[in-house]
Amino acid sequence: MLETLLLFDERMIEHDPGPGHAERSDRLRAIEAVLSLRSLTNSRIEPARAATEEEIARVHSFDHIARVGELAGQYGSLDPDTHLSPDSVRAAVLAAGAAAKGVDAVCTGRSANAFALVRPPGHHAVANRGMGFCLFNNIAIAAAHARATHGKRRIVVIDWDVHHGNGTESIFYDTDSVLFFSVHQAPLYPGTGEARASGTGAGLGYTVNVPLQAGAGNGDYARVFREVILPIAEQYGPDLVLVSAGFDAHRDDPLGGMELTEEGFATLCGEVKQFAVGQRAPLMLSLEGGYDLAGLAKSVHACIDVLTGDTPPPADPRSSSRAESDLRAVVERQREYWKL
Ligand SMILES: [Zn+2]
Repeated sequence: MLETLLLFDERMIEHDPGPGHAERSDRLRAIEAVLSLRSLTNSRIEPARAATEEEIARVHSFDHIARVGELAGQYGSLDPDTHLSPDSVRAAVLAAGAAAKGVDAVCTGRSANAFALVRPPGHHAVANRGMGFCLFNNIAIAAAHARATHGKRRIVVIDWDVHHGNGTESIFYDTDSVLFFSVHQAPLYPGTGEARASGTGAGLGYTVNVPLQAGAGNGDYARVFREVILPIAEQYGPDLVLVSAGFDAHRDDPLGGMELTEEGFATLCGEVKQFAVGQRAPLMLSLEGGYDLAGLAKSVHACIDVLTGDTPPPADPRSSSRAESDLRAVVERQREYWKL
């Protein structure tokens, strides 16, 4: 039986955005503690590799790559939230490379699925700049790598981080070769991700935003997946499924106002895994946010359990009226492009 590949690398712990920063080294240490406690049944851990400049340049401008590169070995900032320490550029290059390595493993059939346990996160980084704790857009680099190296032409990216994946959206906004979903809290940083933002040109209809008011829980998210994301993804017929797996929609997270639990994340992971298997599409997750250490570690652990073969918890049947009206607005919007 093929194993789940877990990409974990000590060198990504060394990225230090400074005292008091939410996106801190302890996040990966908490995940490392979980990895050290679990049995490695059906899974194996491998280190990251460095992304090449060619791989990063598929989604980022040379200006941005040069600006980040100049900060190697130094302290610096890309925006008021995004700070670098001397080891940060190396960590960012490894994070992008881990996501690309995960794609290689699942696309060649070497692994059943993969989870790149990376930091810094990536989904806020746009082509020409880093922002929101993100230097390079790891999931976008992974998708572009799959397109360039494995001939993937119909890539689904599902972003369940509590923040809108504005960087990934903007990078693939005008293409139909990536179908991008973001389910996120609104209003919240970075302020984008309205339901009416649906793509442009050849990409029209291939960006699907699901903004939800604060307070949405396990049952609400399960409905979003069953009633919007997976039905649209099925009509698209993906040849690769990527997940921007942030865990800041966890109920204990200090940056988000959602009510998901680790069981809720396991349910979502199970829905996506079952979908990908049914589509015969390889599956890779890449870590984004998640700032409550216990909530993050438990949620990552729960998702790894599902990836390695455990039966996920059933979807919570409860849903809230606020999420119901948010969902209705999204379905109304998406009926312009998809059968729902
Ligand atoms: Zn986030």
